[in-house]
Amino acid sequence: MDDDRSPDRTYMDMALEEARRAGARGEVPIGAIVVETATGQVLAAAGNGTEAMADPTAHAEILALRAAARTRGRPRLPDCTLYVTLEPCAMCAAAISFARIRRLVFAAADPKGGAVLHGPRFFTQPTCHHRPEIDHGIAAEAAADLLRTFFRARRGADRTHERPTAQE
Ligand SMILES: [Zn+2]
Repeated sequence: MDDDRSPDRTYMDMALEEARRAGARGEVPIGAIVVETATGQVLAAAGNGTEAMADPTAHAEILALRAAARTRGRPRLPDCTLYVTLEPCAMCAAAISFARIRRLVFAAADPKGGAVLHGPRFFTQPTCHHRPEIDHGIAAEAAADLLRTFFRARRGADRTHERPTAQE
């Protein structure tokens, strides 16, 4: 539900803020938050950083998991919830599983690149040895709008750039 003020919505709003900041840096606007499930303490917050870091693996989820694990001094986060604004890709789904994340909450579904509800459906595979609880759809419209606006602006910029050859 987009209109309720549940703790999930509050944390997803923080993830959306990270996504907005990423977009402002010229990154695809995706954000992630790692929260200690029982206490609600935020351990890490990150936006997508692939461009600035010149790192194809610097997805918001990976950066947030790394930061949270570093804070804890342990590679596994079995008492944590990961909030992310878009359905995780296969790489991030694997990282979430390796981190033993207890609960995954994502906003918008991603039929093109997602790996939870779509594509490989990573957590349902027999080779996946830890499956988090999964909830999705919280603030989905807001998350999808951010992405749509970002890609529309980028396509517009591309078109302007290509105008000399595109006009006939
Ligand atoms: Zn990813």
